[in-house]
Amino acid sequence: MNTFEKLNLSMPLRDAIADLGFEKPTPIQSESFSVILSGRDVVGIAQTGTGKTLAYVVPLLRDLNYSKHDNPTILILVPTRELVKQVVENIESLAKYQTLRVLGVYGGTNINTQKQAVIEGMDILVATPGRLYDLAVSKALLLKDVKKLVIDEVDVMLDQGFRFQLANIFDLLPKRRQNIMFSATMTEEVDMLIDEFFVSPERISIAVSGTPLHNIAQQCYAVPNFYTKVNLLKNLLNDKNEFRKVLVFVSNKKGADRLYSELESEFKTGVCLVHSNKSQNYRFKSIQQFDDGISRVIVSTDIMARGLDLDKITHVINFDTPVFPENYMHRIGRTGRAEQEGKSILFYTPKEEDWKEAIEKLMSYTIPLMTLPEDVEISEKLLHEESNKMPEIRQRDSVDVNAGGAFHEKKEKNKKVNLGGSYKRDIAKKYKKPRTKGDKNYNKGKKRK
Ligand code: AMP
Repeated sequence: MNTFEKLNLSMPLRDAIADLGFEKPTPIQSESFSVILSGRDVVGIAQTGTGKTLAYVVPLLRDLNYSKHDNPTILILVPTRELVKQVVENIESLAKYQTLRVLGVYGGTNINTQKQAVIEGMDILVATPGRLYDLAVSKALLLKDVKKLVIDEVDVMLDQGFRFQLANIFDLLPKRRQNIMFSATMTEEVDMLIDEFFVSPERISIAVSGTPLHNIAQQCYAVPNFYTKVNLLKNLLNDKNEFRKVLVFVSNKKGADRLYSELESEFKTGVCLVHSNKSQNYRFKSIQQFDDGISRVIVSTDIMARGLDLDKITHVINFDTPVFPENYMHRIGRTGRAEQEGKSILFYTPKEEDWKEAIEKLMSYTIPLMTLPEDVEISEKLLHEESNKMPEIRQRDSVDVNAGGAFHEKKEKNKKVNLGGSYKRDIAKKYKKPRTKGDKNYNKGKKRK
């Protein structure tokens, strides 16, 4: 029997878990509890949706002695504000019968309000690295009592360029501490970080990156171009009984904006959007709308969706095919969460076919190909980049495209210097004259009006 009872948890924790309706630990939870309780450094590789937050929160709470310290004894670092909120909520619901104080801090909000909250004291601090560092250097926050450090979604954090922030934070922490790290993918950067800062960690790995969750039914459609993809998506979404809670993935923010405006004209508030260029308020509002069921569909980029606790998604739609096959694994992991049934649909153009094949190779599974419904209009209209014969440059849209590729891809990527900038330079070089002239004409035209 695989129940929480076997884990020798305290009554308050058992009651809180029972209130949440969880009957047995997920595999990552069964694996993690004893290792984390042993006090050793731990590295866990787990996809989102496997219950990894509870996997580290429960043993930490079981071990936490209520102390009179005002400084945190447990520090949890996560990459996004959304994840701070989510982890704090998880802790609060698990600790509802315990006396402890948990605080979440993140950037983009008034630091003075947070300083005040920090001064009031806490046992557990959940933070994004940037804001944590600012609070620590301003001396509002003392990290000298931290006994346990958790770094969650470390692959995302490293992709966001927090490598140095992390190293700086480690310098401020006591040398004697337990390090616990969770990552959805193992990348070269993650491995280097472990080598440098961890002491012979115990590695726990449940679902290997290429193992699809068994309870997710996958399908794919071959579609010639963007506008036909839009027609197909609208066609599918018109079936309201089937497509009840849909997460649509787009690899970059520009593409997400473009798709959203296409869908919004037809579905109005039935669709919402979330990506990292949107203000925090906008993002919270979108997520709320989706959670409340006002919006049936949320359009998101990879990195944004990874930090969200989106419950009971019926369908994940891969509006484009991820360049890195592992991103596909993360995407589909957003449905079929914690043993529920989920469905995933992938759209791919001829240009994206190689990427689809790479995904299939990683999974050792051929995604069943569906026939395009007859009433879906094949659009002749092409996007600028679809008609343009310029060499294909992978768009590096901040951190979205690049959530932890496999080793060989990382190395390949590292050879390229500043992809985004060089793309602009290439265009500038190629179109220098006409572009300048065009700009002038454009401006003249404007003045004449
Ligand atoms: P996570 O991987 O931490 O994002 O968790 C994924 C989802 O699974 C969350 O909505 C949790 O509330 C839920 N969950 C966590 N542990 C369990 C469990 N033992 N049984 C059922 N659901 C769980």
